[in-house]
Formats: sequence, structure tokens, C-alpha cells
Amino acid sequence: MTQRFIMVGAGFSGAVVARKLAEAGHACTVVDARDHVAGNCHTARDADTGVMVHTYGPHIFHTGDDEVWDYVRKFGEFAPYKNRVKSTHKGAVYTLPVNLHTMNQFFGTALRPDEMRAHVATLTADIPEPESFEEQALAFVGPDLYAAFFKGYTEKQWGTSPANLPASILKRLPLRFNYDDNYFAHPHQGMPVDGYTALVENILDHPLITVRLNTVFDPATAGDWDHVFWSGPLDGFFGYDIGRLGYRTLDFEEFRAIGDWQGCAVMNHPDPEVPFTRITEHKHFAPWESHEKSVLYREYARACEPGDTPYYPIRLVAEKALLSDYVERAKTVSNVTFMGRLGTYRYLDMDVTIREALDTADAFLAAQAAGTPA
Ligand code: FAD
Ligand code: UDP
Repeated sequence: MTQRFIMVGAGFSGAVVARKLAEAGHACTVVDARDHVAGNCHTARDADTGVMVHTYGPHIFHTGDDEVWDYVRKFGEFAPYKNRVKSTHKGAVYTLPVNLHTMNQFFGTALRPDEMRAHVATLTADIPEPESFEEQALAFVGPDLYAAFFKGYTEKQWGTSPANLPASILKRLPLRFNYDDNYFAHPHQGMPVDGYTALVENILDHPLITVRLNTVFDPATAGDWDHVFWSGPLDGFFGYDIGRLGYRTLDFEEFRAIGDWQGCAVMNHPDPEVPFTRITEHKHFAPWESHEKSVLYREYARACEPGDTPYYPIRLVAEKALLSDYVERAKTVSNVTFMGRLGTYRYLDMDVTIREALDTADAFLAAQAAGTPA
């Protein structure tokens, strides 16, 4: 008998699992509450300006996973794209991630790499195993660079002191003693020429996949399906009945301009007196296109309330305790796989999301073939 499989969420998680199962001969239904596919990676061409807008914030594809890189390029053309972020602090513009240029500008020096290493070593704190973001920053760059580029930005982004946040958040960023201002270190980096939504539509374009948009899946109906692949919020599956996992949400204040308003795609604003964290000028994500007009977003972070879009999971002590309760419950639901950014309550880049979705589908198919439950 044909089995009934449903993917809740048409982001990369749901789309990639559906595609693998469809290619193995299984019919899949993919639903999303939104009116578009691609989840938070959604891009849409603005009707007035023609600019491809990253609706839920800037998304740059980067990976060290050759298989994932080959996978995405089967479904859409990628143009080379390097993320070169700038930061405005006290009326001066610096390059990120913090590199030799940033430091020479900031200190008013012209030091060479070894000289700058030696200089920074006189500034940093000796903290053998930094636990908090603040400790990591003090051990990494010292107090002045921390205050200029990280403290204010992080307080705005996370709504708490960096002393309360884990060091792992800052460990996402490199510190470079050369002039390399590529934000990411991965060997494969690019931007889908037709946007992420066209890419995900191509992944979902299979005769055995049915997509239903504007469709909210009710977890109470999970028993109607042979298997549910849930990429919605983990706590949402259980009706938030033992509490809500904390998220930061983002508000985007859109404005328009003629020509080139800021000269780059992403300008960070770390100073505490500026209420937003960064400004994104979307047309710079597609430098191969030419548009006279421009669409920009000022980005503000705040606590996520019921009904808001959850963006960044806040994994502090209280959330981790609640998370482990939900994870234990999730293990008892035999016909549901929890996956993706929201389903596992982790910050996942797109490439990791795709890697995990491919692995999830492979494990499921292997279990099916072996006649054992996934
Ligand atoms: P999502 O994209 O969140 O998709 C989940 C979908 O499930 C949503 O569309 C939602 O509507 C739907 N859904 C939830 N509940 C239900 C329900 N009950 N019924 C129906 N549908 C439901 N990664 C990078 O690699 N590079 C970047 O530059 C980058 N930038 C980012 C910037 C921001 C601001 C953020 C927040 C994330 C960024 N990411 C980036 C991460 C990237 O967005 C995620 O890796 C990716 O979106 C995860 O895909 P997903 O399918 O797991 O989740
Ligand atoms: N960060 C900062 N200043 C910056 C950029 C980043 O303090 O100019 C901090 C901030 O806390 C952020 C973290 O470093 O959450 C990781 O940065 P990343 O660019 O990876 O942020 P994300 O992609 O999560 O928005």
C-alpha cells in the first residue's frame, strides 16, 4: 500500500527530504503556512525596482561540503559571491571580519602581521577557556576592539549582556592578521542567480511531490500520516504546553533610494546609540544585475512574542533545560522526525541544513528498506 508522507515546512529541510524520498519512489506532500516556498531563505523580485530582495534577511551560501555544493548547483546556477561586510563605528567605516586593515585603521598604525599579533597580545586577557561571549572577546581581541565592534552590536542583537551569552556565538567569526576581508572561510561561496526561492522550487519540482502553500499543519493530525517530517518549531508541535523556547525576532524597516545608497550589501552598526544592527542594500547581492533604484532594510532585533517569526534560537541555561524536556518528548513520537532550524532549535546555516536533510532522508530510506522504524 502507498505510504503517506508529509513534510511540514517548504524550506530547505522539507524540500530536500521530499526530493530524496520522491526520487526513491515515494509520493510526498509538502505544506507551508506561508504563501511561498524556501522558508526564511525566500527571495522575491521587488515589482518597482526589479531588485531581488532577501525577504527575511541577507542569505549568502557558503560551504566546505563538496556534496552539498554539487547538490545545490543541480537545481540552480550560482554566481560567485564573496560576503564583504563593513562596520560603521563612531563615524568611521571599517572592514569586517576584524582583520589587519580593521586593526591598523582602528589603532592608527601601519603594522605588519607579526607586529599586529604582538600588539594584540599585549591587549588580550589571558583566559584559558573562555565561557561567555565577553570572555571570548576579551581573550580574542581585547577590550577596545570588543567595545567598538562587538559589545553594542551583540547587546542589540541578543537583548542581553555578552557576559550572559556563550562563547560559541563569537567563535563563528574569524580574526585575521592579513588583509583578507572575506567574511567566510569556506571554499565554496556563491549566490543563486535566480534567487533561493527559484532554487527551492526546482528541488520541489518532481512528479511525486505535491506542494500546498497557505496551509497550516495541525500536529493533532500527525496520526493521519505514515510519517511526518516536521521542520516547524519543536515546542509548537506540542502546543507550547510546557513553555516557549526563546527566540529573537527581527523587524525590517524598508526604505528606498535612487542609485547606490551605501556602496555595499551589508553595513553593520555596532554603536549602542544606533537602534538597528545593520542595513542591507539588496541589489549588491546580485552585482551582475543593474538597477537604477535601490531597496534597503534597516534591521532591528527584539524578543520574539507569540505570532512573531522566530529567527535566532536563544540557547541560554533556561532554554536548554526546556529544550531537553521537549527533546525527550519528541523521542516518544514514533512517526515524526523533527528537523531543521526550528525543529531542532539550533542556529543552522543553509549548507548544514541541507546536509542534515540529506542524511535524514538517507537514514529514513535505509530504515524503511530494512523494515525497521526510523
Ligand atoms: P525554515 O527556512 O525556517 O523553514 C521552516 C518553514 O516551516 C517555514 O517556512 C514555516 O512557515 C514552516 N512552518 C512552520 N510551522 C508550520 C506549520 N505548523 N504548518 C505549515 N508550515 C509551517 N544561512 C546561511 O547559510 N547563510 C546566511 O547568510 C544566512 N543568513 C541568515 C540570516 C538570518 C537573519 C537568519 C535568521 C538565518 C540565516 N541563515 C543563513 C540560516 C538559514 O535561514 C537556515 O539555515 C534555513 O532557513 C533553515 O531552513 P529550514 O527549512 O530548516 O527552516
Ligand atoms: N557580531 C558582532 N558585531 C558584528 C557582527 C557580529 O558583535 O559586527 C556578533 C553578534 O553577536 C552575532 C555574532 O557575532 O550574533 C555572530 O556573527 P554572525 O555574523 O555569524 O551573525 P549572524 O549570521 O548570526 O547574524
